[in-house]
Amino acid sequence: MKTILISGGAGFIGSHLCDFATERGDTVICLDNLISGTEKNVAHLLSKKNFNFINFDVSQPFLNRKFSKIDEIYHLASPADPNAHSRVSYIAHPFETMKVNSIGTWNMCDLALKTGARLLFASTSEIYGDPEKSPQDENYRGNVSTTGPRSVYDESKRFGETIVAAFVREKAMDGRIVRIFNTYGPRMNVNEGRAVVNFIKEALENKPLTIYGSGSQTRSFCYVSDQVEGLINAMETESAKGEVINIGNPDEKTILEFAKTIKRLTNSESEISYNDLPQDDPKQRKPDIQKARVLLGWQPKVNLETGLLETINYFKKVL
Ligand code: UDP
Repeated sequence: MKTILISGGAGFIGSHLCDFATERGDTVICLDNLISGTEKNVAHLLSKKNFNFINFDVSQPFLNRKFSKIDEIYHLASPADPNAHSRVSYIAHPFETMKVNSIGTWNMCDLALKTGARLLFASTSEIYGDPEKSPQDENYRGNVSTTGPRSVYDESKRFGETIVAAFVREKAMDGRIVRIFNTYGPRMNVNEGRAVVNFIKEALENKPLTIYGSGSQTRSFCYVSDQVEGLINAMETESAKGEVINIGNPDEKTILEFAKTIKRLTNSESEISYNDLPQDDPKQRKPDIQKARVLLGWQPKVNLETGLLETINYFKKVL
């Protein structure tokens, strides 16, 4: 049995990881300051003896007086929603976002060294910015604005990667970096302003689906169970030490197509409305997952319609 620390464990992806590790019988330390996560996501775990929730901001050093060992650290803590109108987005929390991905990552690396834990840093496809090549493989260096509205997230994640790479290189930390592409599923925050959340809410309320720009920009959506499996494989594969790995679903759709799929699956009467495209909105995003296939033996299994139906059912329950 392992002891697993999950920063951002009350968030969307983090809480599914908490489920998996708690169920397996590991001792789970879930750290979250609930900026974009919610205690509701882990409420069903609170009574389990092997699950420990601590309301904590990992931008502060985690002094750990209680746990005698830590085997694995998943560092997921960070707002991740880019939407300016959302109160849980990184645009609404620019300083917390920059801190958790820089100082927070540094703190988690220090903790990994001190405890001998293996570390996985949840990076993002956003480090590719508005990519000039598609699909994006791990060697692509990206096209990111250092000062634009998304930079607080993109650049702090990029620096987070730099920190992890330096700890691996200089201090022999057992670390790996996963670049998470658009992921969706139950427990996405209903207050988010992302396409998945907005479109499902709008469709269920028969309100117009708000497309930003023409809807010709593309995204590739990965269901959360696939994402979590990818993260676990990346953590538990010995040869992933020091590696950077894309985890996402290469099934690319235009945002207009995506909105229409949600409208159909919800039997909605919503119309489509067109709004301004936010600054620096990436025109395309599609992961090259060849490295994950070869190194981890991983590939996504859940198709878009199946995953969306699960997500729509979740939103029907919580809205
Ligand atoms: N988008 C949209 N309508 C919305 C929310 C988002 O058309 O209500 C677009 C957004 O401009 C982007 C894409 O959908 O091109 C995906 O946006 P999301 O917020 O999910 O995150 P991103 O992939 O940009 O990080």
